[in-house]
Amino acid sequence: MDIKILSNKKDKLTFLLKGVNNAYVNTLRRYMMTEVPTLAIEEVTFKINNSILYDEIVAHRLGLIPIKTDLKSYNFTKDCKCKGKGCAQCQLKLSLKSKNSGFVYASEIKSNDAKCKPVYPKMPITKLQSKQDIEFEATAILGIGKEHMKWSPGLIFFKQNPKIKIKKDPENKQLVVERCPQSIFELKNGKLSVNSKKESDCILCSDCVDLTNNNIELEKSDEFIFTVESWGQLDPQTIVTKAIDVYNDQINEFSKLLK
Ligand SMILES: [Zn+2]
Repeated sequence: MDIKILSNKKDKLTFLLKGVNNAYVNTLRRYMMTEVPTLAIEEVTFKINNSILYDEIVAHRLGLIPIKTDLKSYNFTKDCKCKGKGCAQCQLKLSLKSKNSGFVYASEIKSNDAKCKPVYPKMPITKLQSKQDIEFEATAILGIGKEHMKWSPGLIFFKQNPKIKIKKDPENKQLVVERCPQSIFELKNGKLSVNSKKESDCILCSDCVDLTNNNIELEKSDEFIFTVESWGQLDPQTIVTKAIDVYNDQINEFSKLLK
């Protein structure tokens, strides 16, 4: 196996994985999306809410607010020392009190843990008019995307890196150049050729294959371009490494049970 980092930004990591197959990369993808824990609001107690939105709608919106997650400081409630009762190691307490007319933003939520607060301060929660107010207390816990998507750490996808092979220079080369939606082909000295810089943009539509009666081939490679786009709770590297840790733990448990 071989890994090459293609781009590494704060919220988005793209890398090329060589020497693997579809099943392998899809397992990775699924573990990242559904098994990596993050913090999300699970319980809300409203003291006052006479805003334009019902309690249920506000609670649902609160659940979907990404909260910066520190995996070292929090346990799953079921695995915690408190035996599920709830304590500072498995619950994050948040609160909000507002009576300013206009939008109520995520930045107004007060968190008991300065490290773990809403990632995007400008996310609107509800809107107040004059003489309206809202006050609630909320509890966020660790959870996984398999249970509810609000705990999923991001959008993770991959595509097979295509290899385009021109077997025989086709007669309708100008048409091939024009029809490719990703403009991957070009004419060089009157011959059809592939722009190597754009080859990885191929969306495997197979238009070129059909147009040339299979004189162009799209070969299946063992290279995959993997993109991990975080929703902000964790950085992309943590999403990848944590997914692998969870996978290893499950495999170890499986092997223990088997013995
Ligand atoms: Zn606890």
